[in-house]
Amino acid sequence: MKFSSNKPKVYFKTFGCRTNIFDTQVMINNLKDFDIVSNESLADIVVINSCTVTNSADSSAKNYVNSLKKLANNPKIFFTGCGVWTKGEGLFNDGKIDSLFGHSLKEEINEILKKQERVFEPGNLEHIDKTIVSEFVGKSRAFIKIQEGCDFRCSYCIIPYVRGDARSYDMSVILEQISTLTQNGFGEFILTGTNIGSYGKKDKNTSLAKLLKEIFNIKGVRRVRLGSVEPVQIDDEFKELLNESKMAKHLHIALQHTSKDMLRIMNRRNKVLDDLALFEYIADRGYAIGTDFIVGHPGETDSLWSEAMQNLHRFPLTHIHAFTYSKRDGTPSASMKEIVKGDIAKVRYNELVSIIENKNIEFRKSIKEPLNILVEQEKSGVFFGYDQFYNPIEITSNTDLVADWVEIGNFEVQKDKNVAKF
Ligand code: SF4
Repeated sequence: MKFSSNKPKVYFKTFGCRTNIFDTQVMINNLKDFDIVSNESLADIVVINSCTVTNSADSSAKNYVNSLKKLANNPKIFFTGCGVWTKGEGLFNDGKIDSLFGHSLKEEINEILKKQERVFEPGNLEHIDKTIVSEFVGKSRAFIKIQEGCDFRCSYCIIPYVRGDARSYDMSVILEQISTLTQNGFGEFILTGTNIGSYGKKDKNTSLAKLLKEIFNIKGVRRVRLGSVEPVQIDDEFKELLNESKMAKHLHIALQHTSKDMLRIMNRRNKVLDDLALFEYIADRGYAIGTDFIVGHPGETDSLWSEAMQNLHRFPLTHIHAFTYSKRDGTPSASMKEIVKGDIAKVRYNELVSIIENKNIEFRKSIKEPLNILVEQEKSGVFFGYDQFYNPIEITSNTDLVADWVEIGNFEVQKDKNVAKF
């Protein structure tokens, strides 16, 4: 027999990054008196969890709001997320959205959505949620959010103004969450947040390294990966963990550029020569290292670009998240005059990516130890997963390997992946 509920129906539309996906999950976990539907045309209420990282992210949210106005069911629109602090007030005053609430109120969503009158509550930027949410990949990997916000003020970035300064989730709650997940068969954990290297920085009794040590002690934890950390956050306490067997042999350390002057223009805290020494130290301990890199930020002249590429060749990098600069109003970079044209930025982007692709192939050819893979999925008898160096691998096997840990000694290095038989 099918039961149909009379509860009002809510659809969540999430824009942006993994942090927003977590925030939507926090809202869903706290929603008691509503049903969730999978399509806006079935909804009484649409909650937009917005992103505001670039001007085009703002446009996407606005276009979506306009598209909702054309729906026959005419849902009420509640607007939340990072856009609350930028475009939200304008949308509210223009009557484009019915209500607005900030990040800090997301755990109160059940009561907010019940209000009949229009709500305008941006909240504050100091709040830290009590609801810890994990996002699961398959049956054995879980993302765990450990902190919120950022104390840095990079010129191009709006994040600190819309998510606030760095603050950390309580260590005991994180450990309890991981411990519960291990009992349900999860073995790999990926720690994420806005700026996870700042974990515990405002409490001298804790730090990212201390949190990691506690996580390694949990029975059932097999591998821990970290989201992006900043070079200046890798201290001696953290370096001591590099030989720990449960650390994935891959770190993602955000450089954003390899020109000294560009780092200054971007108001970054890292310095090229210190970064190089740090990367060499970590690579010498057998690690693959990835980075973020912004191409075409204002002020990136031909000579600064060629200096950056000369430096880049010296870095033992294996992975890259390259971004072409995109303007965000309200940031210092948005008013900088020395704009880099789009076609030039594209050529530079391709040059950068190709350098790192070659470095990645060389790295994979040089691997002397067996690969340890957590198999995530299967398609037509080919299994897929990532090894300890965060390189993808395809494994042909007659055995069902999904959610298994597999050790592979012999593998073939192809352009964008390794392949093997098991
Ligand atoms: S470190 Fe810089 S780029 Fe990253 S969130 Fe903080 S301000 Fe933004």
